[in-house]
Amino acid sequence: KEPVPSDIDIAMSQTPKAISQIAAEVGLAGGEVELYGENKAKVGLSVLDRLSYRKDGKYVVVTGITPTPLGEGKSTTTIGLVQALGAHLNKAAFACVRQPSQGPTFGIKGGAAGGGYSQVIPMDDFNLHLTGDIHAVTAANNLLAAAIDARMFHENTQSDKAMFNRLCPAKKGVRSFSSVMMKRLEKLGIKKTNPADLTPEEINRFARLDIDPSTITWQRIIDTNDRFLRQITIGQGAAEKGHERQTGFDIAVASECMAVLALATDLKDMRQRLGRMVVASSRGGEPITADDIGIGGALTVLMKDAIKPTLMQTLEGTPVFVHAGPFANIAHGNSSILADRVALKLAGTDGDDMDPGYVITEAGFGADMGMEKFFDIKCRVSGLTPDAVVLVATIRALKMHGGGPEVVAGKPLPGVYTTENLELLERGCANMVKHIQNARKFGLPVVVAINRFTSDTQAEMDVIKKLALEAGAFDAVACEHWAKGGAGAVDLGNAVIKACDQPKDFKLLYDLNLSIEEKIEIICKEIYGADGIDISDEARAKIDTYTKQGFGNLPICMAKTQYSFSHDPTLKGVPTGFRVPIRDVRASVGAGFLYPLLGAMQTMPGLPTRPCFFDVDIEPETGKVVGLF
Ligand code: ADP
Repeated sequence: KEPVPSDIDIAMSQTPKAISQIAAEVGLAGGEVELYGENKAKVGLSVLDRLSYRKDGKYVVVTGITPTPLGEGKSTTTIGLVQALGAHLNKAAFACVRQPSQGPTFGIKGGAAGGGYSQVIPMDDFNLHLTGDIHAVTAANNLLAAAIDARMFHENTQSDKAMFNRLCPAKKGVRSFSSVMMKRLEKLGIKKTNPADLTPEEINRFARLDIDPSTITWQRIIDTNDRFLRQITIGQGAAEKGHERQTGFDIAVASECMAVLALATDLKDMRQRLGRMVVASSRGGEPITADDIGIGGALTVLMKDAIKPTLMQTLEGTPVFVHAGPFANIAHGNSSILADRVALKLAGTDGDDMDPGYVITEAGFGADMGMEKFFDIKCRVSGLTPDAVVLVATIRALKMHGGGPEVVAGKPLPGVYTTENLELLERGCANMVKHIQNARKFGLPVVVAINRFTSDTQAEMDVIKKLALEAGAFDAVACEHWAKGGAGAVDLGNAVIKACDQPKDFKLLYDLNLSIEEKIEIICKEIYGADGIDISDEARAKIDTYTKQGFGNLPICMAKTQYSFSHDPTLKGVPTGFRVPIRDVRASVGAGFLYPLLGAMQTMPGLPTRPCFFDVDIEPETGKVVGLF
């Protein structure tokens, strides 16, 4: 057998089609495609209007068992599956994936373009800046952060009148409100359009946000694993006159602006969500929004191109949409609603006599994280109904859940992972079974994709299949797309096609009208298998505030370790007999969810001793990137 070359060597050895060709093949019209060089294009949202009459294609979410350091290959399977459907089974098939963050790319994980013969290409473009969306998100977030501190500084150092006069400067002797300012007037119930008509009391309310610095939740962001920015002091320059404050950085892909990008349903909706984002409370206890600060419009302008999904391709020349990139542990972990909708229309049909196309969208980390959030947050907002779930599992990862030894980076893999061990595997399958049962709670058929490694045996495949079917899976299929490309996932493709035609009874896990506490408890008990939750005093106070401020009816985005069903990353398999500590609760009002922080969850990762960047280099003669995996 020929060994499979490295991911980057495979990716580089394929000549991509011109992206304009892919765009034409999938039925995009000329005016809908903005080329970013030869291999990437942004797709204008007008395509949604043009194709609004069409019935959507089939909608499939790819998720996985609880991740281990051994990897399950969700991205690889997403790409392998669309290659099978699109290049071997003659279906219109789109992959919708997230844009990778530079945090993991240069940190622990490496790239996220898939692997082996199932990849998005060009993988260096995909893993690096792509079309700049993460930069746009970062620019928007940090403009708002700068605006908050500057606003507090100016309010603290000026009278009401001086603030007001500067906010509404006289042009040719006349003062006026900008359209953004009118939003604040409307919120304050001041029905005046001429600044000269405001009373001193109204001037005071308009000009003074009176932000309580201890309530600011808005952090700065950067797309780098920079743990030393987790907590910082700002305002130490002499010109800031002692206006110092403790704050910190989050990773860009955990930010609310990124979540807004992923959940926006059109440009107007994105404008409203960005304006609605709550950054702090006033000393009087009122939530302060981006629109109060007058910045919702500017943020939208910074993100106006980011709202368009980026079209790329697989190694086998089938289409891929890359859009938005929220992490699945500290954010909601799904690519954008807009990319899915564009793909569903392009894969759609004009009538029931036509063969539907397939949209394969990936949800991050295990099904307890990305999939639950896919349904309860993303599908709730989009109103889209998925047709099937693909749950990716590997034999080696299941063995680890069954009690297999830890792996040590740089050391050879312990033998149990590369030789048959049915007992360990069978025990570990409990993790898969719980994920299947969880997915079934949403009323959809589940296909288990057993992502095959070369050392896996047929007897091991049979064990997984038997246990998966007993747990209620529609099918369980071994696949070899990593080694063989789409040809290795044809059986999976056929199983997915059949699953999509099964009757379904899609339902969400919880009702939004339940209390915040009840919603958190339902997720912890139903999905994680916890006995209950323990809410800290800090979290309790936040829950009370958010409920009082009218945000109690938002869905819940759990910030939890991806390495366990529980909050404790060391508990593998299916932990039982645990209670989940809710350390803190934060609100992303614009994105539209509340996020409880469980256990020791951090919103800024760090770099390990031996980060992936050690492998990355460039060949100066050719400009070729090496070492991105
Ligand atoms: P996930 O999306 O679950 O994080 P990826 O699809 O990114 O996982 O895969 C992680 C790594 O594992 C990639 O480098 C990929 O090349 C490798 N990989 C995936 N499937 C296989 C397989 N069947 N055999 C060998 N390596 C694989």
